[in-house]
Amino acid sequence: MASSLDVKNIRKDFPALHQEIYGKPLVYFDNAATTQKPRQVIERMIKYYEEENCNIHRGVHYLSQKATEAFENARRNIQQFINAKETHEIIFTKGTTDSVNLVKTSFGEEFLQAGDEVIVSVAEHHSNFVPWQVLSEKKNIPLRIIPVNDKGELIFEEFEKLLNEKTKLLAITHTSNTLGSIVDIKKFIDKAHEHDVVVLIDGAQAVMHKQLDVQELDCDFYCFSGHKMYAPMGGGILYGKEKLLEKMPPFQYGGEMVDQVTIKGTSFNELPFKFEAGTPNVEAILGLDEAIKYLQNIGFDNIAKYEKRLLDYATEKLLKIEGLRILGTSENKASLISFLIGDIHPYDAGTIIDKMGIAVRTGHHCAQPVLDHFEVPGTIRASMVFYNTFEEIDRLVEAIMQVKKMFE
Ligand code: PLP
Repeated sequence: MASSLDVKNIRKDFPALHQEIYGKPLVYFDNAATTQKPRQVIERMIKYYEEENCNIHRGVHYLSQKATEAFENARRNIQQFINAKETHEIIFTKGTTDSVNLVKTSFGEEFLQAGDEVIVSVAEHHSNFVPWQVLSEKKNIPLRIIPVNDKGELIFEEFEKLLNEKTKLLAITHTSNTLGSIVDIKKFIDKAHEHDVVVLIDGAQAVMHKQLDVQELDCDFYCFSGHKMYAPMGGGILYGKEKLLEKMPPFQYGGEMVDQVTIKGTSFNELPFKFEAGTPNVEAILGLDEAIKYLQNIGFDNIAKYEKRLLDYATEKLLKIEGLRILGTSENKASLISFLIGDIHPYDAGTIIDKMGIAVRTGHHCAQPVLDHFEVPGTIRASMVFYNTFEEIDRLVEAIMQVKKMFE
C-alpha cells in the first residue's frame, strides 16, 4: 500500500458514511464513541450467519468445528496483533467496561485488602474509575488520584508522590477520551513496577490509532473494545499476563468455563476459557479479527500520519474562531478535539450542529471527574479518523459559525 491514504477509496468501504442527514451529506465526527464499520467487517458477520453459525467449542459436528476454528484463529491473530506472549493471555469480553470489571472482581476483590491503595487518574472514563471507586468503598481501599495539568496531561511527578508501599494497583488510560491526551504509559508502568505495583491500561481510545505491543509496554492488563476500532459492538479484549490470570478466580460461572461439574463440586477450565462463561459473541470477535486485518492493510503508520494532519488542520481552524476554547492541548494528542463555544451550552450547540448533518458528541463523555477539574459541565467533542476529510472539518467550522450567529 502507498504511504499516503487513498481516503476517497477508503470511504467507499464504509456504507454508513454515504447517507444524508436532514438533507445534507453526513459528517461523522463521533468516532471516539464508536467507529463506522467497513463492508469487509459487515460481510464477515454475514458470512458467519450464512455459512458458519453454530455454538462453539464442544460440538463434534462440522459447523461447530468450523465456527470454533474461526473463533480460536481470531484469538491467535489478536495475540499477534498486540504481541502478547501467549494465546491464552487473550480473554474475550464484551468490551473495555467488562474487561475492567473482570479485573476489579477477580483481581481486586480477591487480592487487595483493607489499607492497600489503588491509583487512578482524574482523566479516566467512568468505566475505569467507578469500578475502583466501588472497590475502594467496599473494602476500605483508599483511591489515590493522579491530577492533570492545564494541558490535560497526567502529572508524572504527582503520580510518583502517590506511590508508596501500600500501593497495589495502578489503573490508567492510554488515551483520554475527553482531552485526547496520549499518556506516556511506559514511563508510568516502569515506575509502578519499581514498587511491585500491578498495572492495568485502558486502551479503549488508543488501539485504533497506533500499533500496540503489550510485551514492550510490559503492562499487566490491557483492555479495549472492538466497536471503537471498526469492529462490531459487544466484543472486546482483556489481555493479562499469564502468571496473574492463572492465580485469579473466575469472574462469572457457567458454560465453557467449567471443567467437571458434579453435585459435590465444580472444577474450572484452563485459561483463557476460565474467564469466558456462557456463549460468547462469536460474530463480534470474527468481525474484530476482520477489522484488524483491514487496519493492517491500510497500515498504522499511514493512519497515524493522516490523523495527525486532520488534528493539526482542525485545531488551527477551530482556534481561529473567536471565543472558542479547546480543552486538552497536549502536544501528544489523539485526533479528537473537545471544545466550548463561548458561553453556549454544548447541548444547544450540538443540536444545531446536528441539524447541519454533522455528528459530534456533547456532554460529559462519561468522564465527569476531569470536567469537574476544568470546571465545565460538558464539551462538544469532534473525534476524527482516517475516513474523515479536510472538507468535513471546513463544514464543522461553518456550522460553528452558524451556531455563534444564532446565539449572538
Ligand atoms: N474507556 C475509555 C477511554 C472510553 O473512551 C470508553 C468508551 O467511550 C470506555 C472505556 C468504555 O468502553 P465500552 O463502552 O466499549 O466498554
